[in-house]
Amino acid sequence: MKTLEKGNKTYTEDVQAYVSEVYETVKRRNPNESEFHQAVKEVFDSLLPVFEKHPQYIKQAVLERIVEPERIISFRVPWVDDQGNVQVNRGFRVQFNSALGPYKGGLRFHPSVNASIIKFLGFEQIFKNALTGQPIGGGKGGSDFDPKGKSDGEIMRFTQSFMSELSKYIGPDTDVPAGDIGVGAKEIGYMFGQYKKMRGGFQAGVLTGKGIDYGGSLARKEATGYGTVYFVEEMIKENGFSFAGSTVVVSGSGNVSIYAMEKAMQLGAKVIACSDSSGYVYDKNGIDLSTVKRLKEVEGKRISEYVNEHPHAHYFQGCAGIWSVPCDIALPCATQNEIDETAAKILVSNGVKAVGEGANMPSTLEAVKVFQKHDVLFAPAKAANAGGVSVSALEMAQNSARLAWTFAEVDGKLQEIMKNIYRESKEAAADYDAPGNLVVGANIAGFVKVADAMIAHGVI
Ligand code: NAP
Repeated sequence: MKTLEKGNKTYTEDVQAYVSEVYETVKRRNPNESEFHQAVKEVFDSLLPVFEKHPQYIKQAVLERIVEPERIISFRVPWVDDQGNVQVNRGFRVQFNSALGPYKGGLRFHPSVNASIIKFLGFEQIFKNALTGQPIGGGKGGSDFDPKGKSDGEIMRFTQSFMSELSKYIGPDTDVPAGDIGVGAKEIGYMFGQYKKMRGGFQAGVLTGKGIDYGGSLARKEATGYGTVYFVEEMIKENGFSFAGSTVVVSGSGNVSIYAMEKAMQLGAKVIACSDSSGYVYDKNGIDLSTVKRLKEVEGKRISEYVNEHPHAHYFQGCAGIWSVPCDIALPCATQNEIDETAAKILVSNGVKAVGEGANMPSTLEAVKVFQKHDVLFAPAKAANAGGVSVSALEMAQNSARLAWTFAEVDGKLQEIMKNIYRESKEAAADYDAPGNLVVGANIAGFVKVADAMIAHGVI
């Protein structure tokens, strides 16, 4: 009989009791943070066999330590709107874990942003970044500022105020933010300018996702979407099909969605639906990506406008309905919890064969169970959307070396990284008696790297 000694407690053959106790502590210490609880639970559920095999992780309290951010910074962001009114938003940076390298993770500007959302994203980022094999820790940040409907001047004044405070806590060897929802090249540019002004010197390595002319990497814009498709292609290829000839539904029409659609199309798929937060477009002839790119990347318009130029296509109000469109492959690329149990059941009943998460935590825990129960091939976010942060790390490497790789060089490295993440996740799943379960595999492969580094660094 195996016995685990932990402080004044003894767990006998009951790793589950130990993990449940830590999870209850997380809930108690972080009340009203449902997204954070959900992300923690998903990881914990995968780790039971790891603790059975490696009780040193329990002895060293790795689990208790890993759920506690190293630092949470929350700050006031005052700015002046175009009418001369003073507005106040709240800014966050969660520096979650630096066992493998400087904190790395995006900034999200969206009215839904709060401590729970940033903590769930930061927690996921720890394991995702470990999976990339690059020397980067996990962090995340953002603000409840809503860029929608704001003028360029308002966005600039807000981001400058945000960076005035954030600049005290970040740096090329400390914490390197990037973009996320609501933060693209324009916002990164304004933040970089403000950081440069406040700190002095041209420290290209402080942010990633920069413009190509001032230290950005080619293929960073495409990386998350392309990477998701590379990962899914690897997974489905082993199961006898591919993007070529498949029908695909992609939610969202932002950065991740557009480049997931582009790569899926390049590989021969027909993408028949995409969306924004107001509704979705169904085009049985296949979405015309040049129209979507112009509407979203250039003109900042709603996806509903697509049907003005493609009258045979249909627009439906409400974004959740997109999952009722029958398809072979579903790529949720918009936001968290966009596929619930009901949506998952509809996808399954319509014959979906694979789901690849381009967004962070887009499927609820119940939805994932539905996919797994019905043998739908499932590529979890942590692994499938790690392409963006991987190329961000490549951007950091180029900045350090003061050189710039070609698009083909970066894209080639991205493909290799995504293949490696798939292989490592698959192998970890098989090693821990869960063959084919990439949720378990990705969580374990990421966790073990971080846990071993934490133990190597001692109790800090
Ligand atoms: P983005 O460029 O701002 O695009 C987000 C897209 O999702 C927009 O089309 C938006 O529509 C839509 N959306 C937002 N909320 C929605 C909702 N409730 N239902 C349906 N659609 C909704 O952001 P992004 O960078 O593509 O990020 C998308 C997801 O990928 C996020 O989960 C993010 O954390 C994750 N991710 C991003 C990266 C990256 O490199 N950018 C890397 C890893 C993971 P509206 O225009 O109407 O708001």
